[in-house]
This record gives sequence, structure tokens and C-alpha cells, in this order.
Amino acid sequence: MAGEILDLRLEDGVFVGDYAPADGGASCQIRAHTVLLATGVADAGMPVERWDEAVRCGAVRLCPVCDGWDVIDKRIGVVTSDANPVGHALFMRTFSADVLLFERGPVSTLNQEERQRLAAAGVTLVESPLAGVTMSEDMKPVLHTRDGTDYLCDVFYPMLGENARSDLASGLGAETVECRKLLVDEHCRTQVPGLFAVGDVTRGLNQIAVATGQAALAATTIHNMLPWRLRQPAAQAANAS
Ligand SMILES: Cc1cc2nc3c(=O)[nH]c(=O)nc-3n(C[C@H](O)[C@H](O)[C@H](O)COP(=O)(O)OP(=O)(O)OC[C@H]3O[C@@H](n4cnc5c(N)ncnc54)[C@H](O)[C@@H]3O)c2cc1C
Repeated sequence: MAGEILDLRLEDGVFVGDYAPADGGASCQIRAHTVLLATGVADAGMPVERWDEAVRCGAVRLCPVCDGWDVIDKRIGVVTSDANPVGHALFMRTFSADVLLFERGPVSTLNQEERQRLAAAGVTLVESPLAGVTMSEDMKPVLHTRDGTDYLCDVFYPMLGENARSDLASGLGAETVECRKLLVDEHCRTQVPGLFAVGDVTRGLNQIAVATGQAALAATTIHNMLPWRLRQPAAQAANAS
């Protein structure tokens, strides 16, 4: 089913989701005793010329855990973020000796200790704030700073954070933590009985292996909750059908 759940609520102990099909067909309600959310995250981006094309060809990248191995010894541009001002640049330094960290806003967010860590690791801190990012003819990111300097890089990781698509769950009272990620227990249960969540929408590492592992845990727990899970003898089941 391709479509979107627009609203999720509880009616008499049963989940009710308002479902809008992607093909524009008639909306309907879906009722369920348990719900498993795997709604992912929305990456916070920044204006970059030809964004889609740049992401497609790997000039702009969003997940160094996924593809850091692919940029070994390249010239890597990273931008400071509120949540993690220098951590991403230091992480990228494990893949390349040529890492440039750009200040995002007009006022530096970096303290003295963070500056020392960058210097000790050999990360180049570009002091003039980032003014824009364009693409060269051969699709390499060019980072422009306010002082009029252009920095040609091989790849650019904006790394500005993410927002979990957790509204359906938080609207029912599920607890969220940083980046609106859902807090789940070891069975991927939220605080709302019967409401499960797996993958990027939950707190943890955004990786396919993590999401599928969580899905297996949650599915097994849900299976064990089903009230009708005791199977009838084969003969009885055949007669009933
Ligand atoms: C550029 C990029 C490269 C990556 N490379 C790798 C990699 O190499 N290896 C790796 O392990 N991981 C990689 N990741 C991370 C990986 O993609 C995620 O960890 C994984 O997709 C998480 O799966 P998910 O099901 O939680 O979320 P998603 O894959 O994001 O799926 C969520 C789905 O839910 C849908 N949805 C959201 N809200 C609603 C709603 N209300 N109703 C209906 N549907 C809804 C969305 O449209 C989406 O289809 C990469 C991520 C990015 C962005």
C-alpha cells in the first residue's frame, strides 16, 4: 500500500489511522490492535545548488557512517552544527588528512577547547562564515565564504542534523528525545501500549542493519501479543474455510 497515514489515534483501545492513498484514491480508516512505526527521519539540509543531482553523484553526502570509506584521502568540506559543532569534522578526519570545517553562521559557535581539538587533529577551520555552496562544471562542491574566498572540495557533508518523523507517536503520548527521536525499550515498544517503533525514527544509529534487526525484535513481540495466535488443529481450520 503506497500512501500516507495522516493521523493516528486510539478509539476504545484500538488504533485508528487515517490513510490517504498515494494515487489520490479515496481515504479510509485502518484499525489495528498494534502499530509498528518505521517512518524514518527528515534530514536538515541547507541551500546547495543542484542539490538532488549533487546527492545523486556523491558530491554532497549525508551519512559518513555509510560512505566514509568512499571518500578516503579526498578533500572533504564539513559545516558546523549546533548539536555537534566539531564532532563530524573530527570523524571525517579518520578518512582524510584534508578536512575543512566551515562556520555556518556569522557568529562562531566554537569554544576554545573545540578549536584546540580541531587544531590537534589537523582539521582546517575556515573562520569566514559559509555564504553558499555551488557546483563546479564537473560536479564538485565549491564552498563560498563571506570574505569572497571559494574553496573547491571533492565532497561536502552538510551534517546539519535530522528531525525524526515521530509526530504520529508523540501525538499519542510516546516519549521523544533529541531530534524528536522516539525512545523505545529492548522490544522496540514506545510508552504507548501496543505502539512500536523501529529504524531511524527511534534513538540510535541510522543504519539499515539496525532497522531490520529492530523490526525482527518488534515483530516477534507483536506476534506474541496477538490474542488469536493459538492455531486451530488442521482439520478444524480446513472445515472453517
Ligand atoms: C543518502 C543516504 C545514504 C545512506 N546509505 C546507507 C548505507 O549505505 N547503509 C546503511 O545501512 N544505511 C544507509 N543510510 C541510512 C538508511 O537509509 C536508514 O538507516 C534506513 O533507510 C532506515 O530505515 P527506516 O525504515 O527507519 O526509514 P526510511 O528508509 O527513511 O523509511 C521511512 C518511510 O516511511 C515513510 N513515511 C514517513 N511518514 C509516513 C506516514 N505518515 N505515512 C506513511 N509513510 C510514511 C517515508 O516516506 C519512508 O518511505 C543512508 C541514508 C541516506 C540518507
